[in-house]
Amino acid sequence: MVLPNYINGEWQPSNGTETLEIINPATLEILDRVPLSRREDVATAVQAAATAFKDWRKTPPLNRIQYLFKLKTLIEENLEELCRTITRECGKTLAESKGEWQRAIENIEVACGIPTLMQGYNLEDIARGIDEMMIRQPVGITAIIAPFNFPGMIPFWFLPYAIACGNTVIVKPSEKVPLTMQYIFELLHKTGLPKGVVNLINGAREAVDAILEHPQIRAVSFVGSSPIAKYVYGKAASHGKRVQCQGGAKNPIIILPDADRVLTTKIAADSAFGCAGQRCLAASLAVTVGEAKNWFVETIAETAETRIVGNGLEEGVQMGPVITAQSQERIAGLVEEAIAAGAKPLVDGRKAKISSYENGYFIRPTLLSEVDPVGTLAKTEVFGPVLGVIEMETIDEAIALVNRGQWGNMACLFTSSGAAARKFRYEAEAGNIGINIGVAAPMAFFPFSGWKESFFGDLHGQGKQAIEFFTQTKVVVERWFDDWTRQF
Ligand code: NAD
Repeated sequence: MVLPNYINGEWQPSNGTETLEIINPATLEILDRVPLSRREDVATAVQAAATAFKDWRKTPPLNRIQYLFKLKTLIEENLEELCRTITRECGKTLAESKGEWQRAIENIEVACGIPTLMQGYNLEDIARGIDEMMIRQPVGITAIIAPFNFPGMIPFWFLPYAIACGNTVIVKPSEKVPLTMQYIFELLHKTGLPKGVVNLINGAREAVDAILEHPQIRAVSFVGSSPIAKYVYGKAASHGKRVQCQGGAKNPIIILPDADRVLTTKIAADSAFGCAGQRCLAASLAVTVGEAKNWFVETIAETAETRIVGNGLEEGVQMGPVITAQSQERIAGLVEEAIAAGAKPLVDGRKAKISSYENGYFIRPTLLSEVDPVGTLAKTEVFGPVLGVIEMETIDEAIALVNRGQWGNMACLFTSSGAAARKFRYEAEAGNIGINIGVAAPMAFFPFSGWKESFFGDLHGQGKQAIEFFTQTKVVVERWFDDWTRQF
């Protein structure tokens, strides 16, 4: 079947005649086909969103959030099938899919606070008898363009806030994993949201360009790789839109000699190999300081070797496949290149053959030591289960390496020293910092704060910054003449 779009409260066939297969990366089963929607599909969705906006913005915030409460309940009631949908199209384990939904729900819960969060402020008597107030109004039609690696959670970094603030929305999921949003839009339909408030467009580049160029779309939220994030940022801005673009990453973790050995290794392995390394907050480079190298590398090698890899739908599996054959090849190529440049393959997962799934896009956890700190592997986002280790002698050297990188999504430190932790928090140039944490993912009530090439824009997703992004401020200065004020 070819997936339909959801426009104006109805499932509609796309005008795109070109379609792509949606493939389960573990089994290579073809799950469905996704259409590459055309410019006219986006135009129809914009028309629906524009019509819906007129009344939606007048719907009281308290009434708007009732749909979110319903959506949360529906997600919870359908949780098992929603987890299976993510795992089937994306490959991660069911436990990882469940974690993703928890994070999505958390964003719905925070957005349900809109009647308070969206309030402005005011001051009486800015001059005699004159009052001034700031009110927040929705920006209008907004669009969300999402990547493949969190098909459920990432649209929820934006969608609940956008609609709770009174905007209407067009979601364009990754063409590699469109089934999850298809399911969510079935649930959105069941909430009874007015027609046109939320719309779903399947597709790829043409649909994205149509969104970026459409004059009626006021705001764009993007998550994906850095080159595309930069492209979307530039193009959306040049068409007069407000835009927030979260990009790629290369996340370093620093291990000091005084870190807790058992917990540090476990946390680091979960960060590097969880979701098969396909997380924008995956640890990708481990920098051992001084004698930490003596225990870290040996213990994490054992953890890497024993991780159970397979079909994420099966119980006991700890890591699934990567998303495509191209990803598998690219990751293997980067490992090959690093070894040729002098890195030592302590655990080499490239020739993974998983029983019953021999053709799946699997790579087992891979651990490389003595990685060149200025080589390709140290500078490139691998987006696979590969951890490179670099040895250094001081924390200053390690922080300098963190700050030399082009990305700034996350940096973590493992230590038992408060002073070292403070120094790191103060000096490290990254927007999400972990201290004895391996995946420093901000909760929904904090902003997801990427820096440098990991983020293009000003206001980040989630929390108060989401409210800022999805509203425009209006300031009213007010004076009323009557006998009472005339006396002044
Ligand atoms: P991607 O950049 O290939 O795709 C993201 C979106 O952009 C998709 O919807 C896709 O259809 C669209 N797109 C792709 N090429 C395009 C083009 N040429 N023109 C217009 N649109 C285009 O990213 P991906 O492979 O789906 O996701 C993985 C990347 O996302 C990684 O780099 C990862 O670090 C990043 N990511 C970042 C965060 C974060 O919070 N910073 C979170 C998750 C993923």
